[in-house]
Amino acid sequence: MPTAPKRPCSGSPTCRNLVHKSPCPDCARKREQRRGSRHARGYDAAWVQLRDEFLTDAANQCCAHCARHGRATPATEVDHIVPFSGPNDPLRLDRTNLQGLCGVCHRRKTAAQQLIDALKSAPGARRGRIWIQIRSDTP
Ligand SMILES: [Zn+2]
Ligand SMILES: [Zn+2]
Repeated sequence: MPTAPKRPCSGSPTCRNLVHKSPCPDCARKREQRRGSRHARGYDAAWVQLRDEFLTDAANQCCAHCARHGRATPATEVDHIVPFSGPNDPLRLDRTNLQGLCGVCHRRKTAAQQLIDALKSAPGARRGRIWIQIRSDTP
């Protein structure tokens, strides 16, 4: 009996597994782990409520970064302008520390922040032994 051909997993850009249905078990598990760690880092129900409420405010419905470049792009994500350090950091639920961003700008900011964090914490940083790749989603 013929079966449908397997397709590359779409669960992650680097995944090479062939599956009938994405994501593959590996990606599904990683996704689940990420969700757990997000929660532990302070993305809880209070945050979700604040985020949703923030985005319904007309003042926050355009991407703040795009607006600086004269582009009107709908904000789909809420970003912490100054990153918070844990669930008890007051910056986490401080409305004045939030801005609306589009997905592209948010990913770019997150990547830049990860680079900064890695450089700060890596022992080999000063000797230039760190290799980090930032993928830009815009041409
Ligand atoms: Zn996969
Ligand atoms: Zn943007």
